[in-house]
Amino acid sequence: MRTKVQWNYFIALTQILCLMAAALVFWNLLHRSPSQDKDIYPYLLSISPNLVKECSQEYRSGKVVPWEDLLAIRSTLSPQEGQFLIEQLKNKISFQNLSWGNIPLPIKNLVTRRRDILVHVQYLTPGRYRFPVVGKTWFEDSFGADREGGKRAHEGTDLFAPEGTPIINICGGRIEQLGWNRLGGERVGVRGDDGNYYYYAHLETISSKLVKGKRIEAGEDVGTMGHTGDALTTPDHLHLGIEIPNGQWINPYPFLVVWQYWADQRINAAIHNLSKDERNLLILSRFGIL
Ligand SMILES: [Zn+2]
Repeated sequence: MRTKVQWNYFIALTQILCLMAAALVFWNLLHRSPSQDKDIYPYLLSISPNLVKECSQEYRSGKVVPWEDLLAIRSTLSPQEGQFLIEQLKNKISFQNLSWGNIPLPIKNLVTRRRDILVHVQYLTPGRYRFPVVGKTWFEDSFGADREGGKRAHEGTDLFAPEGTPIINICGGRIEQLGWNRLGGERVGVRGDDGNYYYYAHLETISSKLVKGKRIEAGEDVGTMGHTGDALTTPDHLHLGIEIPNGQWINPYPFLVVWQYWADQRINAAIHNLSKDERNLLILSRFGIL
C-alpha cells in the first residue's frame, strides 16, 4: 500500500516537473528576441555605395530589370557573368526561369539568397527610405568609435549642419519616444514599419505636429538640428541611430551615403522642372547663401 502511494506521488511529481519544463520552454519561445539571420548585415555592408549608385543609373536607363535582381547579380558576379543574366532579365525572363549557363550551383544559390535579403531588408531599394537631413550636410563613418574615454562605443552616425537645418523622418512608422533625455537631449524615436527603431538626437526643436504613439510618414518633419543633451559643447549635429528588432545597433553610414545620393538625384530632377529664376533661388538657398 505504502509503495503504491509513493509510486503515485512519483508520477504526480514527474507530471508537475514535465509541465513546468514545458511552461519554461513555452515562456522562452514567447519572449525570445526576434532572430536575425547572420548573413544579412555582412552582405548589406559589403555592398559599396558606389556599386549601388552604378546600379541606380542602370536601373533608371533602358529596359527595366527588377532592382533586387540587378543588385544581387551585380554585387556577386563579374560584370561579364552578370551581363549574361541581366540580358535575360531585360528580355522579361523572370529570375526563377533564368538560364545560369556555366555559373556553378553554389554561386547561383548565393545570388538567390542575396536577392532574398534585398527583397526583405530594403535599405537599398530606391525610394523606400529618406535621407534625414534637408540641405547640405557633412558626415563620416564613426560607428564603434570610443565615447566618454572608451566607456561606450558610438552607436550611430553624426551628421553635421548648421543649427535649424530641417530633419525629416527616414522610414514611416509610429512615434515611440519624444522629448528630453540626458544623452540625446531633445530626441525623437520612431518605430519603423520595418521593425527598426530610428533614433534622432540632439535636436534644437522637435516638430510640434509629433504626438507620442501616433504615426509619422517617411519624409515628414521630425524637427531641426541642434546640439542638445551631451552634444552641448560640440558643433551642431544630428546623432542618428538605427536599432534592429533583436536589439543590435547597426551602422547607418553606408545606407546614409546611398540615401543622400538618391535625395540629391531627386533634387536634381526637381531643379530641371523649375524656371530659371526658381532654379537660381533654390541653388542659392541650398548652399546657405539665402
Ligand atoms: Zn553621435
